Parts: sequence; structure tokens; C-alpha cells
Amino acid sequence: MEVSRHPTKYLGEEYQRLVRESLNWQLRVLESASEPICTVDGKEVLMLCANNYLNLATHPKVVEATIDATRKYGAGAGSDRSISGNMFLHEELDRRLAKFKNAPASLTFQTGFMANEGLIPQLAGRGDLFVSDELNHGSIIDGVRLSRADRAIFKHKNIEDLTRVMEEAEKHDPPYKHVWIFTDGVFSMDGDLAPLPEIAKIAKEHGAGVYVDDAHGEGVLGEGGRGIVDHFKLGRDEVHAEMGTFSKAFGVVGGHITGNEDLRNFTYNKARSWLLSGAVPPGVAAACIAAIDVLETEPQHVRRVWENRNHLLDGFKDAGFDTGNGETPIIPVMCGKSKTSKDFADYLWTKGIFVLPIFYPMVARDKARLRVQLCTKHTTEQLDRTLEAFKEGGRKLGII
Ligand SMILES: *Cc1c(COP(=O)(O)O)cnc(C)c1O
Repeated sequence: MEVSRHPTKYLGEEYQRLVRESLNWQLRVLESASEPICTVDGKEVLMLCANNYLNLATHPKVVEATIDATRKYGAGAGSDRSISGNMFLHEELDRRLAKFKNAPASLTFQTGFMANEGLIPQLAGRGDLFVSDELNHGSIIDGVRLSRADRAIFKHKNIEDLTRVMEEAEKHDPPYKHVWIFTDGVFSMDGDLAPLPEIAKIAKEHGAGVYVDDAHGEGVLGEGGRGIVDHFKLGRDEVHAEMGTFSKAFGVVGGHITGNEDLRNFTYNKARSWLLSGAVPPGVAAACIAAIDVLETEPQHVRRVWENRNHLLDGFKDAGFDTGNGETPIIPVMCGKSKTSKDFADYLWTKGIFVLPIFYPMVARDKARLRVQLCTKHTTEQLDRTLEAFKEGGRKLGII
């Protein structure tokens, strides 16, 4: 029999479609450490698109901790934490993080994505409801999709719409058993904050759980970088699950779920990504512990990243740029059309500035932007140079 089907041809066709529509990722190669000045694709550039907000990726204490633990305990943990790979370093990291967060308990994961994707589908099933902000991170979206619970989406940060969703849910027959509301803490495309106190209030009225993904808030918001729950001074009985990552401000890699003991015990018994996947290497766990140490003992890093952010934001505003709704060291510089944002990023690249254009389908078609991310080690001179290049490019492209 003649077979007309080819198993993989469509993969190439789909890739070509992405290229034609300029929707494909162009992978850049970092050839140095992630520092303000780094080498990317053979070119020396100023890094303005790293999540390494506090430069802990290269902090000597964090680097030393990785080396020491690797020498002592090896390159790998040898197993999943659920079997024989649960080293005392992992347990120590769980405890240290909970203490840092002023919470009863934390459970650390291999990545933040795996925390969301592993825990969320276990939180609820048939007869339950998940309520989610329309702009939540993909890992929440995937976690919610993996569950059998009903789903409802509310408009971005819109409390009125959330109230409507919750009131409609009350009418469901039979009544929903468990209801959870999910939100990012800091939304990564705009750097804006979730109205967490208002969300917690509505949740309480309806007996719903609150789950916040604070990947971009940790190390940046709250007392000493303790995150969004601390920023709003909310209790663990108001925000029931705080999820986060070690891959951003902490400068390493890993994820966590923080809340009460029940949440921790439930999670390590149920989340399949935790149960069925290898533990992070001892060097990684030790690096994360060292990063917490640094946050607890060197408050200057968090202060400095905010000073940098305020300096550049003021400059952008004075120059007439639309900087959207950013409230964190993520500054969106609005460009309008997708092509404008790409041309702008290309122009800045020629000036030795590495910044990420964000466009459809990541954001609405007319809301393309450059996403500028600040870090502690950016110098004022570097930021002023950035501003000058933005002004030149912005004028050329008719943005200002
Ligand atoms: C980065 C990010 C994650 C994923 O975290 P990783 O530890 O990098 O897997 C999850 N949620 C949000 C909002 C993020 O920005």
C-alpha cells in the first residue's frame, strides 16, 4: 500500500510558517556569565533582558556554595526526592525558604514551571472550579488545563469581573466543592501587580483558595525581597499557596510552593512532577540556600535594583516614552505594532544593547513593546547610555 503520510514533514512546514510570519524564536547564545556586560553571539552587549535581577547568579557566596556542595556531595542527587535523592540539602532549602517567607512550610521543586504544572491539577477535579486571570503565566494555564475541574477566566486584574465570576459560581448546581483563584503576582509582560488584597477578600467571602505565582516578585517586592505576600502584608490564611522560582531574582534554578504544613504534605504526595522527576543536584540546592543567605544579610541588592529601575523609568518618561503599567524592575516600552518593536530591538542591538521585543501572540497585536529588565549591577553610566540609545531609536521609529 502506498503511504502518503509522512511522520515529521508537518513539523518543518509548521516551522516554516512561523518563520514566514516572523513568529519563530531566534535563539541567541550567551558566551559569558549573565552580567550587565556580556558576550552574546560573539558581540559585547549590555544585558537588559535577564531575570537575574539581583545578580546573584554570579554572587561569590552563591558560586562558592555550588562548588563546595558539588565537591562534597557530587554532581547529581542520584534519584528523585521521593525515592533516595532527598538530600538533607533539599530539606534544608525547604526550611530556609519557609523561614525567609515567614511561612509554616515550603516544598522546593526542580523548576517553577514544574511546581505549577504538578500541583495545580491535583488541587481540584470534577465538581470543582478554577478561576484564573486571563494573563496568567503559561505554566498556570497548563496546570489548569490538566485538571478535570471547571474553568472560568476573569479579565486582567479586574475585580468587578472576578466578582461576577464568583457570584455566578455560587449558583452552580450542585455547589462546587473546592474553588481556587489563580493569579500571577507580578505579570511578566507589563511588570504590573495583581490586586492581591482584593482577590483575597473576595476569595474569603466565597470560601475559595488563593494561589499566587510570584516568580517575578520574589527578591524584588516586600521586606528584603520576601515577595508579594509580604509586600501586601497578607496572612497565610488569606493567600493559601504562594508559588515561586529560584531561576529569577535568586539567580539559580528551581521552584517552590509555600504555605501551611497541609499544603506541603499534600504536594509531595500528589504532584507528579515532584514525585516522578529527578531531584536538583546538591550544588543547585546549596546555591539556592546561599542566595537566601545573601538576601537575608545584604539588603543593598534589593535597594539598588529599585534605584536603577526608578532612574531609567524617570528617563524614559522625561523622553516621552509610554512605559505602560510597570510597577517593578520590568519596564515595558510601548511600541505599538509588532514590526516596530522588532525594528527597535534590532536598532538597539546595533548599539550594543540587548533587549527583548514582545509582540503578538505574546501580547495583543497593537501592544507590542520592548521589555526592559534592570538588575542590581547596572551602573548609572550604563543606564544613561541605554536612555540615549532609546531616544535616538525612538525618534527614528517615530515612537517619541
Ligand atoms: C518564569 C516563570 C515561571 C517558571 O519558573 P521556572 O522556575 O523558570 O520554571 C512560572 N511563572 C511565572 C509567572 C514566571 O514568570
